[in-house]
Amino acid sequence: LFVVFEGGDGVGKSTQQRLLAERLTEAGIAQLTTRQPGGTPAGATIRSILLDPATGDLAPKAEALLYAADKAQHVHEVVRPALARGEVVVCDRYVDSLLAYQGAGRVLSSSEVAEISDWATDGLLPDLTVLLDLDPVRGVADIVAKDRIEAAGADFHQRVREGFLSLAGADPGRYLVLPARDDRSAIAGVVWRRVRELLSE
Ligand code: C5P
Repeated sequence: LFVVFEGGDGVGKSTQQRLLAERLTEAGIAQLTTRQPGGTPAGATIRSILLDPATGDLAPKAEALLYAADKAQHVHEVVRPALARGEVVVCDRYVDSLLAYQGAGRVLSSSEVAEISDWATDGLLPDLTVLLDLDPVRGVADIVAKDRIEAAGADFHQRVREGFLSLAGADPGRYLVLPARDDRSAIAGVVWRRVRELLSE
């Protein structure tokens, strides 16, 4: 089973990822917790290029290709092998981030970004995507801009949010959209119920 947490910056993805991993482990279910970008050694190097303010302005297509390269390596080296071993993979960000940030956010053609994303991942889609939705003004204010992308303008983060919501709206069966401001143990409970349902199918 492949479960992904998506959403803007500062919405609590990594907390929810940890809570789900804990529940899986308590239930005796093997899980692998990982993230994009940066879930492999090559990915960690790509991540530092992407986030370093010294990188300066990247052309939107260069940025999209770096995120896509991270995904290609991660799917090949980490995600598919773990799924093949029967583990539940719990990933912080995946293809929706590429579509929302580089497609909607950087205003690249959504069909072209979707094609690159599909090519990079050989079409591997999550069984469940949990979208933690938050008004980006509040999300970004909470974390204090700390990297090259979090420092982008409010309009950018608004487009990213709308990008995520429209992806979820286009394929509702695969998504759980939850308000990120809800109590975190309540969110974790809803996620756990859905994951258990999927595991028992
Ligand atoms: O969530 P995480 O800390 O891993 O994201 C790192 C940074 O990369 C964040 O600022 C996030 O907004 C940005 N990002 C992006 N495009 C992606 C994925 C993440 O701009 N496809």
